[in-house]
Amino acid sequence: MLSAYKYRTYPTREQGMRLKRNLSLLCKLYNELRDEKIRRYKENGESLTQTDLRAMALGKRRNNNDNLQTIFSQVVQNTADRVHSAFKNYLGGRARFPKNKRYSKYRSLTYPQFGFQLNNQTSRLYLAKIGSLRIFLHRAMRGEIRRLSIKYEAGEWYAIFITKTEAPERPPVEIVPDEKISGIDLGFEKFAALDNGASIEYPKFLRQSEEKIKRLQRRLPRRQRGSKRWKQICFSLAKLHLHVKRQRDDFQNKEMAELYKKNDVLVLEGLNVQNMLRNHNLAKSMADASFCKFIRKAHFKAEMLGKHFIMVDPWGTTQFCYNCLEWVPKALSERQHHCSHCGEKLQRDLNSAKLAKRLGILSIRRRSPPSDGGSSLAEPKPLPSLRGMVSQGVEAGSHRF
Ligand SMILES: [Zn+2]
Repeated sequence: MLSAYKYRTYPTREQGMRLKRNLSLLCKLYNELRDEKIRRYKENGESLTQTDLRAMALGKRRNNNDNLQTIFSQVVQNTADRVHSAFKNYLGGRARFPKNKRYSKYRSLTYPQFGFQLNNQTSRLYLAKIGSLRIFLHRAMRGEIRRLSIKYEAGEWYAIFITKTEAPERPPVEIVPDEKISGIDLGFEKFAALDNGASIEYPKFLRQSEEKIKRLQRRLPRRQRGSKRWKQICFSLAKLHLHVKRQRDDFQNKEMAELYKKNDVLVLEGLNVQNMLRNHNLAKSMADASFCKFIRKAHFKAEMLGKHFIMVDPWGTTQFCYNCLEWVPKALSERQHHCSHCGEKLQRDLNSAKLAKRLGILSIRRRSPPSDGGSSLAEPKPLPSLRGMVSQGVEAGSHRF
């Protein structure tokens, strides 16, 4: 199991400048490799592999193009890996087409295996080609260090260590009683509705911070691009985004811990990524981003805590009755679920949560024989689906947004 540990680091002024310079060199390299990959494909249908890209990156470094020799070789190589995975994610339907990165958006560099050394006693982090940095180790790290990223966030530098630890034993999902399984529906009005009727409210402070972001963002176009005041607003925006991110993480971590304390299995529906990519509304895209994060957290916290997480296909989860599994179409504005087949009457989001739980249980019971200690159970793959259960005449249920 991989975990991430993030610590604040304090490079000297000179080290900070060198790191920033490295980031912009790597950004340039990223864009060059990306362009080259596209060009080769367009010209002769050639598709550059990860190895090709790495070789190209290291070749450029060897010829000391753009002073790449001032950067540790594995860090340069990692940039090639980023280009590779950007295209891989695009081809896998998980991301948009890789864009040319702006310098301001390229904010981290990675030491994949070597080139760094952490001294716990002196709280110093040595980075090859950068030097020794002061680091604040606010909590103990567990596991064997696999990778290190150095990240710049709104004026602050962070070291993120990826470590490998043994995952705790977890009971097979088949023996979990139904009352220890919770279905959750994520929503825009309420953050989450649980199948037992409880709900998690979206915290007010998050809404307030998001309002602040919106206000600040509206001021941006009124300033001359690149001017001093424009830069000031950009910096405040970055700070505010960081603040919101931390508030959101904190909120989600607490709720997640609470949910896993009470339950052994969480069932959530996946997000419709295609819909999300088309979505340009700021408030909604923020909500999407936070749902995405919540689902990812649910997945890896399950592994960390020895619990289970099941993701169900979001198709039709607002349009079916949890009780009789009949199709009950409703418009987005209808907040009630009233089933004309079995007479069930309840809140729309409660129905979705109960339905999620039911699909989750169906998928567990369908899984037999009991598996190999449960290692494959938390795969973030939509397992059960309403699609297969309905007659073919039913049109695709609309997505909830
Ligand atoms: Zn019904």
